[in-house]
Amino acid sequence: MAKRDYYEILGVSRDASKEEIKKAYRQQALKYHPDKNPGNKEAEEKFKEAAEAYEVLSNDEKRKRYDQFGHAGVGGASGGGFNMTIEDIFNSFGDIFGNFGGFGRFGGFGGSTRRGKRVNKGSDLRVKVKLNLHDIAYGVEKKLKVKKQISCDTCNGTGGAPGSSPQSCSTCHGTGYVTRVTNTFIGQIQNTTTCPTCIGEGTSIKNYCKTCGGEGLIPGDEIVSVRIPAGVAEGMQMAVSGKGNSARRGGVNGDLIVVIEEEKHPELIRDENDLIYNLLLSLPQAVLGDTIEIPTIEGKAKIKIEPGTQPGKILRLREKGLPELNSYNKGDLLVNINVSIPTNLSKEERKIFEKFLESPNFKPNPTSSDKNFFERMRSYFE
Ligand SMILES: [Zn+2]
Ligand SMILES: [Zn+2]
Repeated sequence: MAKRDYYEILGVSRDASKEEIKKAYRQQALKYHPDKNPGNKEAEEKFKEAAEAYEVLSNDEKRKRYDQFGHAGVGGASGGGFNMTIEDIFNSFGDIFGNFGGFGRFGGFGGSTRRGKRVNKGSDLRVKVKLNLHDIAYGVEKKLKVKKQISCDTCNGTGGAPGSSPQSCSTCHGTGYVTRVTNTFIGQIQNTTTCPTCIGEGTSIKNYCKTCGGEGLIPGDEIVSVRIPAGVAEGMQMAVSGKGNSARRGGVNGDLIVVIEEEKHPELIRDENDLIYNLLLSLPQAVLGDTIEIPTIEGKAKIKIEPGTQPGKILRLREKGLPELNSYNKGDLLVNINVSIPTNLSKEERKIFEKFLESPNFKPNPTSSDKNFFERMRSYFE
């Protein structure tokens, strides 16, 4: 296919000034810019054609040779030799688009092996949240005041002073990376690395925001509402996505990691989803029976103590424990019964007990006392 005339491509006369050529190229490049024409092969070809024309006509020496010898004067006998990729075009002429409505950056067009721009990610934050048994039993909504890096109000997190929006980085033309082509005896070698000027961000800031010094971040705090489900336990962690530190210059926020801390209940001991209460009976209560109040998560509850209740007996109150996380199962409340033996007796009381010494009713009864003895002992030593 015969090559089109470079002046014709850019739509300029043969005696056009450098400024006119640049302006004409800019118009062509913006018209056929890949960001504006995603997936359009024809536009891509036109975009490349215009770059080729500009590459020659913007260079005095090349333009002179082209004027004298035509395509053969700048690209060898065949008129070929222009093999710029879209990436190369941006790397060479990107600054032309830099001031133009945000173009000059790569949009999403496929086919090339370019790298993505680096996206800043805010760091994760950890906060501890203390829960009591009631919170754990029913789940709870906590409002946490989190000290963190927040987006700067003055610059909306961009890092630029008011009125100066971040410009496409002039080193990498917004791509976030630089490609160096080295000529070696085996041919050209392309080496792509992260742009050293913008550290891969693709933008540069001329005037930094005074409030945040260009980071786009300031120290602050945020009230974060966290819904904690029922059944959580000490040390469990939940991540609240996007509620960690804000990212530099409008990247992706980090997460807020909520670490569960359990407040000890003064009377109830947690054993996974079961709760244990150690009930101490007086001797007459154990002998005669009684109705006794015990603590539960919901408050006090009354339980009946049968006459002749033995120490070591465990009463199991079904489903009065804690819910299992993400389940309908509930643990039990275990009431472990103990009997308090009096240590100080009046003379009269002492006499009464002395009478009981000879009574067959007061002889220890191995079948009635602490049937669970061996199991309990084993569990203590496990
Ligand atoms: Zn700022
Ligand atoms: Zn750069």
